[in-house]
Amino acid sequence: MDDYDSLLDRARSQVPEDAFKKSGERFKVPAVQLIVQGNRSLWQNFQDIINVLNRPGREVLKFVSGQLGTAGSMEGGIAIFNGKFTPEGVSDLLDRYIDSYVTCPVCSRPDTEIVKEDKSYRLVCSACGARTAIRPV
Ligand SMILES: [Zn+2]
Repeated sequence: MDDYDSLLDRARSQVPEDAFKKSGERFKVPAVQLIVQGNRSLWQNFQDIINVLNRPGREVLKFVSGQLGTAGSMEGGIAIFNGKFTPEGVSDLLDRYIDSYVTCPVCSRPDTEIVKEDKSYRLVCSACGARTAIRPV
């Protein structure tokens, strides 16, 4: 009969190395699904991504549309931008948002929330307790 340790070893050997290294450090954000329709770009899985980020949709929308230099709106979980954009371009901006407003700069974990203190905003990390001053979106 197998003892617990060898069962555990066997279970571990079936999981790719990466899963252990990366778990908790960086979260899985789905790839941006964006299609161009006429003169507009529709970010189809916007809601799914917002759910993973745990941030208000309007904030992410404001950041991305501001960086794109266009107007954006939300309709039924889809983000819509005026103009033609690529999934890669939007994905880069989303990464920038995550770096600035989601990932803790001290421990690189995404377990954070944005808290308003007096007149400033802080990114408060529940993993390491860091409170980093940030600029509002
Ligand atoms: Zn942290």
